[in-house]
Amino acid sequence: MEDGKPVWAPHPTDGFQLGTIVDIGADSLTIEPLKQKGKTFLAPVNQVFPAEDDVNKHVEDNCSLMYLNEATLLNNIRVRYSKDKIYTFVANILIAVNPYYDIPKLYSSETIKQYRGRSLGTLPPHVYAIADKAYRDMKVLKMSQSIVVSGESGAGKTENTKFTVFPNRYLTTSYGTGQDIDERIVEANPLLEAFGNAKTVRNNNSSRFGKFVEIHFNEKNAVVGGFVSHYLLEKSRICRQSPEERNYHIFYRLCAGASEDIRQKFHLGSPDTFRYLNRGCTRFFASKDTDKQILQNRKSPEVQSIGPFEGPAAGRPRRLQPHVRGHEEDRVVAGVLHLGNVDFEEAGSTSGGCTIKNQSSQTLEHCAELLGLEEEDLRVSLTTRVMLTTAGGAKGTVIKVPLKVEQANNARDALAKAVYSRLFDHVVTRVNQCFPFDSSANFIGVLDIAGFEYFEHNSFEQFCINYCNEKLQQFFNERILKEEQELYQREGLGVNEVHYVDNQDCIDLVEGKLVGILDILDEENRLPQPSDQHFTDTVHSKHKDHFRLTVPRKSKLAVHRNVRDDEGFIVRHFAGAVCYETKNNDALHMSLECLVSESKDRFIRDLFENSNNSKDMKQKAGKLSFISVGNKFKRILWIRVKSPGMVSVLDLMQGGFPSRAPFHELYNMYEKYMPPKLTRLDPRLFCKALFKALGLNENDYKFGLTKVFFRPGKFAEFDQIMKSD
Ligand code: ATP
Ligand code: MG
Repeated sequence: MEDGKPVWAPHPTDGFQLGTIVDIGADSLTIEPLKQKGKTFLAPVNQVFPAEDDVNKHVEDNCSLMYLNEATLLNNIRVRYSKDKIYTFVANILIAVNPYYDIPKLYSSETIKQYRGRSLGTLPPHVYAIADKAYRDMKVLKMSQSIVVSGESGAGKTENTKFTVFPNRYLTTSYGTGQDIDERIVEANPLLEAFGNAKTVRNNNSSRFGKFVEIHFNEKNAVVGGFVSHYLLEKSRICRQSPEERNYHIFYRLCAGASEDIRQKFHLGSPDTFRYLNRGCTRFFASKDTDKQILQNRKSPEVQSIGPFEGPAAGRPRRLQPHVRGHEEDRVVAGVLHLGNVDFEEAGSTSGGCTIKNQSSQTLEHCAELLGLEEEDLRVSLTTRVMLTTAGGAKGTVIKVPLKVEQANNARDALAKAVYSRLFDHVVTRVNQCFPFDSSANFIGVLDIAGFEYFEHNSFEQFCINYCNEKLQQFFNERILKEEQELYQREGLGVNEVHYVDNQDCIDLVEGKLVGILDILDEENRLPQPSDQHFTDTVHSKHKDHFRLTVPRKSKLAVHRNVRDDEGFIVRHFAGAVCYETKNNDALHMSLECLVSESKDRFIRDLFENSNNSKDMKQKAGKLSFISVGNKFKRILWIRVKSPGMVSVLDLMQGGFPSRAPFHELYNMYEKYMPPKLTRLDPRLFCKALFKALGLNENDYKFGLTKVFFRPGKFAEFDQIMKSD
């Protein structure tokens, strides 16, 4: 960068602003903004990026920019976005910007047809181009493929997933068998969203669970069925939401749209009357898909609840049926709402325990009835916990310990979370029964999982999500690195190494054998008396001076004052530092777990079936589920939005040859500056002759088979020389 050159300098609200360098200091630059001539400011050198000559020009692949950096990439996406071109490539990665309105014809059946069988890069960037590449690779390599969609909340991950796999959407439309599998997948999706999506401040339809949707194909590469796996449903939302957010859609739909009969049977009222709803936003959706209509339209393809399967004999494809008997799922949802209304107060006695407040209200009765429990059993299990005592030598005596008000509140919420999350597991299972397949040759999977999360209070839920993103980031880096290296090899560049900083140390911190945070947690759970504090202490003592781990500031004070502190730990992720709280209030007491697993109600009992056997599995759920997904990734294509991850990929590419231009393009660009003798050569020879004549440094560029590859910034330098000569 030099005086007078156009640059992108930091801007407090826009990210970057265009300006020129007027002075160069040791580690800062003096910039004159284009829009405020005469007014200069200082900017750190590493935050100023060279700009393209024409900032209004846009390219389909960011790699054909003369300078590829954070600012030029953002500007390119911005210019394209203003022209309704929401998709852009960075090599094989697709970046999608959320347009927040329906762009005409962007996803029409004509567009779907256009992309069928076309190589990546031959048509404008599109999610269909990625889907088709996955399909063609599956066919040619005879190997399952995966597409990973990543980005922050509201970025458009779920919409793009739907455009890819759901009916009238790419894969099933282009490569379906004409059976009704496509239709069945479309019926199933709103159901998943009803139970697993919620309004948040950032997205009215935010997915609060991760999913991996597999579309299965037979030997002839035609769609035969599908399978959905789900991960990490956000459980805290079941009991509490921030003021502008809602609980899962199904709660409101039930309150708004249930028939009079059901309303009476389930004792339903307005959302304001339920604690699990009224601390958040209690408004119904009034626009296109109102909460009321959605529930009442159950017989339409937008079926929002499922019932017993009817009709076709076993083995034949089955489809979601509107509820006919039971309303089981709805009943459980209502039961959870009533459970939330159970209140406790200090018992008058000296036991230190609590009793249920306002015994005359029917809350407990309604809850017990809906969940198939005895009211008295539920009352006892919510206000006491069963413990095995070893006191006085009477080993193994069962005693009932009274719970304090706060403990009883936690026990109630833990029960609600357990019941609802089991219900969600069941919903996914039922969805999967709708597109069964006997056998399949390969699948294309799409992973739609929450991006990096950082709230004021972060718990194990955020820890799992961020760990998952950390893994994805590493995978992403490795994949891009590999793809870059493969490209260099294909083009015969003779360059094998690209240097970059990885995040392996952070991953080891989480999953390392014995000393990793997950193993420490498992170990803690095996102790006779696990404790948050002991777990936190162990994490810190095993990782003293670890670059990625620190004690929260308040805790340092606590250490200084020699007082106990249960606060937790800070992990420095690739996307930023996050403080995790280690206090766990979610543990479901054995007595409550036994109570529901022995419910009189078959449906509830089935939800909790095998819960004991699978306990160990569940404890490791975060880890296990990741591994099982991780192992499925064979070939990855990525759809990303601007995120810390994108920046890290740019860094990675800077280590190689990020800018590239095909010979014929260079020929067209510079033909007019050249003598006719040279322009008679074919594009490749033309370029070779040109580069030789200019005496460019051979470390700055490489000739491939089809393109010239440039080191960062060198394409632009070459361009300058050409135009000034
Ligand atoms: P979360 O992590 O919260 O689940 P997300 O990345 O899945 O967020 P989406 O639910 O896919 O975000 O998108 C949010 C909203 O943005 C959608 O409900 C839709 O209204 C709009 N949207 C997203 N992508 C598009 C698109 N390509 N065209 C039109 N609207 C879109
Ligand atoms: Mg989503």
